[in-house]
Amino acid sequence: MLVVKKFGGTSVADKDRIMNVARRCIRDYQAGNDVIVVLSAMGKQTDVLIDMAKEINPNPGRRELDMLLTTGEQTSVALMAMAMDVLGVPAVSLNAYQVAMHTTSAYGNARLKRIDTERIRHELDSRKIVIVTGFQGVNKYDDYTTLGRGGSDTTAVALAAALHADKCEIYTDVDGVYTADPRIVKKARKMKEITYDEMLDLATLGAGVLHNRSVELAKKYGVQLVVRSSLNEEEGTVVKEDVKVERMLVSGVAADKNVTRISVVGLQDKPGMAFRMFDALAKANINVDMILQSIGRDNTKDISFTIPRDMTDDALKALEDKKDALGAQDIKCKTTVAKVSIVGAGMMSNPGVAAKMFECLYNSNININMISTSEIRVTVLIDEADVEKAMNAVHESFGLED
Ligand code: ADP
Ligand code: ASP
Ligand code: MG
Repeated sequence: MLVVKKFGGTSVADKDRIMNVARRCIRDYQAGNDVIVVLSAMGKQTDVLIDMAKEINPNPGRRELDMLLTTGEQTSVALMAMAMDVLGVPAVSLNAYQVAMHTTSAYGNARLKRIDTERIRHELDSRKIVIVTGFQGVNKYDDYTTLGRGGSDTTAVALAAALHADKCEIYTDVDGVYTADPRIVKKARKMKEITYDEMLDLATLGAGVLHNRSVELAKKYGVQLVVRSSLNEEEGTVVKEDVKVERMLVSGVAADKNVTRISVVGLQDKPGMAFRMFDALAKANINVDMILQSIGRDNTKDISFTIPRDMTDDALKALEDKKDALGAQDIKCKTTVAKVSIVGAGMMSNPGVAAKMFECLYNSNININMISTSEIRVTVLIDEADVEKAMNAVHESFGLED
């Protein structure tokens, strides 16, 4: 059997945890399996590196930032190979260049295009455990790229797909996927199973337990995932196409604080304004999420929208450059907002789910700034300070607790 096992930062945060992970992988190896291990950087090392960069240059170039960040994963894989060696098992660490994990060129947010499997196969054939750096790739200029925060999950799933692995296990610091972030909602319940579609929505809407592109890839290539803890032997959560349990109205609640709301005020009320504005943002590589346009009055209108908070400076610059061309009177920006979402395939055939969420927020005295919906989710934009209260209240009102 070929097994891919991915361990996140907390799972390899120090010497003891590294030894613990090494032993866990060796167990699989000694049972006769081929084992590929994908690692994140140790603990909060990626944040530490970003802070270091910003102390030297508040606006570091994306190429150099990726060059720096990829050292985090390189440290953990090398240490893991040494740990396995000391435990008497042959292992080899490989970075993205050595495997050859080819990505698009977008530094900081690259997508995997192709993975060369020869080197890995060769090492597995010589009965080594292969330890691969998560989160990183190489682009057509032979430069290092990174896949976006949390991207090691995607490395693991991509390797599992490319090598037709029998199992892909994502080990983390919680026991599985819960109905909400268990750090915020104490009564959150662990799910035995969840569908790719629901997991994809939860991940995209802020449930950081899995990188959303890893779920996208898993669905595309039919890779069944297991999310479980590296600190105990609990069974974890299976992510797959279909689940046996009856679909709940709402299966989970997620929150995302990486949000900024921007309002462009007093635009001329004529065709083409939205196009020009969002085209300027697209050209600056900024993903726009929720959009709200006010009804025009006195020949002007306002457009509000949300973007990832870490793109705020870039977005404001792109809009300021266009302010005169758009004839906008003012550009307002609020960074202390957050999105709270409910997700569930069951809501497709049940009216009133959104109303129930709004009622619950009203009862908790939480003001809604913006709303967006799809067939299987409802998202509201609220003040960041209200997130914990909102998540707990919504979680309870849909009966999700343990
Ligand atoms: P790793 O370093 O192992 O990749 P992450 O921090 O990326 O770990 O992801 C695990 C964290 O995701 C948990 O500690 C938890 O706080 C958070 N999380 C958010 N939403 C959920 C959820 N629905 N179920 C489980 N964990 C969640
Ligand atoms: N080390 C990277 C991060 O902190 C990638 C990952 O952990 O998945 O975002
Ligand atoms: Mg993660």
